[in-house]
Amino acid sequence: WTVLPMSLLRFWTWEHFSSGVMANRPAVLMQLVASAYAVAEKAGTIVQKVLQSGELGIVEKSGANDLQTLADRLVQKSICASLSKSFPKVTIIGEEELPAEAVEEDLIENGQSSLILQKSCPDQYASLKEEELVVWVDPLDGTKEYTEGLLDHVTVLIGIAYGGTAIAGVINQPFYNYQMGAGASLGRTLWGVLGLGAFGFQLQEVPDGKRIITTTRSHSNKLVIDAVQAMEPHDVIRVGGAGNKIIQLVEGKASAYVFASPGCKKWDTCAPEAILHAVGGKLTDMHGNAYTYDANVKHMNSAGVLAALRNHEYYLSRVPQAVLQALPSN
Ligand code: AMP
Ligand code: MG
Ligand code: MG
Repeated sequence: WTVLPMSLLRFWTWEHFSSGVMANRPAVLMQLVASAYAVAEKAGTIVQKVLQSGELGIVEKSGANDLQTLADRLVQKSICASLSKSFPKVTIIGEEELPAEAVEEDLIENGQSSLILQKSCPDQYASLKEEELVVWVDPLDGTKEYTEGLLDHVTVLIGIAYGGTAIAGVINQPFYNYQMGAGASLGRTLWGVLGLGAFGFQLQEVPDGKRIITTTRSHSNKLVIDAVQAMEPHDVIRVGGAGNKIIQLVEGKASAYVFASPGCKKWDTCAPEAILHAVGGKLTDMHGNAYTYDANVKHMNSAGVLAALRNHEYYLSRVPQAVLQALPSN
């Protein structure tokens, strides 16, 4: 037992406080991603349960190709209430217009992914504050497909933006593996942060030189078809959901996502864009211009979506003039 000199004691105490307690506290961004992960997993179970109940509660929004179900409503309530409870200063923007009402306690998720909390935050985001972050929520992407039983097209999207850039995203796919039988575990969650990478899936590329285009199945028109054909594809996949199509890009099922039409909104592209960019891909409008995700930005992605894991510039170079003229970049 020796008596420590006062100066040394003060030094140790300060060190312990600054590098031990303070530095180990996860950055706000990582806490938000860790919460979004847990909230997205709960959302996935809600989407599964509403389907099991057989009562989808379908409502037409702008028309028969723009639907909302009970799952869209419950999940949006769950995500927005859970995240705003833990992060009251974050701006949260959800797809669905819902009456302001109390949210049932059983919809609130307080958990955080401990795996994500253990990862260190990229330096450039380590000191971000809650009030600087914007969260874009698509409670159920691929609603039309959900109502038609095309279950693996469905995703839950939580995107996080800072300074107008999509910097992090979480995608839950509630029915991943649903055709694999009872032995396979149902559902999965993918996530990513710029500068850190993306997780929850195996990154794969389409073999070099093979052009497989993924595009809409339920929101097509002449421009959409012309733009796809202009890519001289070897194959075209028509599936629902923006989240689903980005998963196809990062898992090597498709080489480009081409949608030459307005229709997708910021909540459709924020989380997918962050995950795609975290693994070196690129999502832009049909002109090659980036979308921005500030809180006050227009919701509609009016100039379409062009995304690829590799060779984005090739696809951009093939976009027809007629498409560029029809879809001005703001
Ligand atoms: P899709 O590839 O058709 O599944 O579209 C991707 C996302 O954009 C989904 O959330 C759609 O609901 C939305 N979307 C695309 N086009 C339209 C449209 N014409 N009207 C409403 N939503 C659309
Ligand atoms: Mg959507
Ligand atoms: Mg939706």
